[in-house]
Amino acid sequence: MKRNKKGLIFVVSGPSGCGKTTLGKKLIRNFPDVVLSVSVTTRPRRKGEKNGREYIFVDEKKFVYLKKRNQFLEWAKVFGNFYGTLRQAVRKSINRGEDVILLIDIQGAMQIKKKLPHATFVFINPPSLNVLKERLEKRGLDSAVEAEKRLRRAREEMACNKEYDYNIINDRIEVALEHLKSIIIAERCRAKK
Ligand code: 5GP
Repeated sequence: MKRNKKGLIFVVSGPSGCGKTTLGKKLIRNFPDVVLSVSVTTRPRRKGEKNGREYIFVDEKKFVYLKKRNQFLEWAKVFGNFYGTLRQAVRKSINRGEDVILLIDIQGAMQIKKKLPHATFVFINPPSLNVLKERLEKRGLDSAVEAEKRLRRAREEMACNKEYDYNIINDRIEVALEHLKSIIIAERCRAKK
């Protein structure tokens, strides 16, 4: 069905390793009119990542330049690197009638909540911290020190999940995906907010 309305904004947060990126990627395969916002970051590119697809990779000078020009809808420093959502890109998608998913951390989500209280806030929880630890180890992207840092932060982040409209537990990815899809459909059908 062609949608003539403006798109919706979904802010999806969750600790590193909770599966939010995988969920986001699976979601856009199911919904052609949902897009993932591509953030700008100063984090070094990981193996398999492509500039402009997972992130727009920039140096700190460029990030500061964009920030000064008020190009970010929100931005935050996470694990020593800067991340920001481009205001103009989100606006364009919404005006095209696409729903936009922002996969961002809590600091960024709280900035969006102030600016755009009508956005929908979804938090992805791991089934437990032990499972999260296993997932981070399996992923093998980080050193032991880095993984420990992410785990500590996960604990802090999960304590804030009450700030979100919806909480999903990502035990089995297919179930979590169904829940996320249901949230999107429900928000699309919502008469008012
Ligand atoms: P990673 O480097 O592992 O891809 O992401 C690290 C953290 O940064 C994740 O929690 C991710 O959601 C968050 N993040 C990614 N992009 C943005 C963004 O544009 N803004 C904010 N605030 N956080 C982001």
